[in-house]
Amino acid sequence: MKTGKDSATVAVEPAAGGAREEIVADVVLLAIGRKPHTESLGLAKIGVGLDERGRIRTGHDFATTVPGIYAIGDAIAGPMLAHKAEDEGLACAEYIAGLTGYVNHDVIPSVVYTMPEVASVGKTEEELKAAGTPYKVGKFPSSPTRAPRPTATPPAS
Ligand SMILES: Cc1cc2nc3c(=O)[nH]c(=O)nc-3n(C[C@H](O)[C@H](O)[C@H](O)COP(=O)(O)OP(=O)(O)OC[C@H]3O[C@@H](n4cnc5c(N)ncnc54)[C@H](O)[C@@H]3O)c2cc1C
Repeated sequence: MKTGKDSATVAVEPAAGGAREEIVADVVLLAIGRKPHTESLGLAKIGVGLDERGRIRTGHDFATTVPGIYAIGDAIAGPMLAHKAEDEGLACAEYIAGLTGYVNHDVIPSVVYTMPEVASVGKTEEELKAAGTPYKVGKFPSSPTRAPRPTATPPAS
């Protein structure tokens, strides 16, 4: 990416291969996926199993395939969110202490930082359909709420 005074030029190319293209824009929003950084830890050498996406395999008690080694958060399956990692850390410590920890992975809230923000929790409609679970749809227009609306120009200061 090259940045100018009032614009930026971004060179992009398809991940699956294809022609490189340059896009000139006023603003660039960089939003790419993340993956756990587990390759360089030498986990294979000690027998800690990874899944097909490089995440550390754990059981419900956050124990890995090696007794005494536990994993939580972004390094394991599930949404890469701070409150999920934090909850798992607590539950994991409880298991290590001989207690029963619990994280309900079905209700990890998440948010998209658009303007206004979009928050969600629980199953999606697609997931309910796939599971054959009966559900009711409720819709409410966002216009009567006091949430901020997208605007092309920042408010005058
Ligand atoms: C730009 C950005 C914005 C985000 N915004 C949000 C948000 O708004 N809300 C939200 O819920 N989540 C957000 N997240 C995600 C959130 O930060 C992570 O989900 C969370 O930090 C995961 O916690 P963790 O403990 O698994 O890993 P981390 O917080 O990444 O902690 C891992 C720690 O291990 C250390 N470490 C790594 N390798 C080694 C090693 N070999 N030896 C010793 N130490 C090591 C690292 O230095 C780090 O301190 C954001 C992430 C990014 C990148």
